[in-house]
Amino acid sequence: MSGNCIFCKIAKGEIPSDKVYEDELVFAFKDISPQAPVHVVIIPKKHIKSLSDSAQTDKETLGHIQYVAGKIAETFPQLQNGYRVINNCGSDGGQTVFHIHYHLLGGRIFGWPPG
Ligand code: 5GP
Repeated sequence: MSGNCIFCKIAKGEIPSDKVYEDELVFAFKDISPQAPVHVVIIPKKHIKSLSDSAQTDKETLGHIQYVAGKIAETFPQLQNGYRVINNCGSDGGQTVFHIHYHLLGGRIFGWPPG
């Protein structure tokens, strides 16, 4: 837990969220400002600032997040033809909340390259 971190507070239930999934390592909830019909944010319960700040010992958790993203996707019929999993890292990567998180997005067709 990092003092003022909004995502730490969401994971602990101190700030309400629309929870989609939880286990001992991760917490997933609907994004407050969805960028697609399905937009889920998946976070580790451990406070890690960003991908750049992750440690060797975080590998299991970070791999688990990707596995969980696939499992959550299976629960949304809108994602049966595909979806996108994104990590924004640092200010140039578009990260605005500095507790590492992965976006699970779907229910519409995405373009490439991203904006
Ligand atoms: P980033 O821009 O850091 O990659 O993504 C942060 C995401 O967190 C944004 O999509 C933003 O809408 C979402 N977000 C920020 N604050 C809250 C909140 O209090 N509740 C929820 N559910 N989502 C939030």
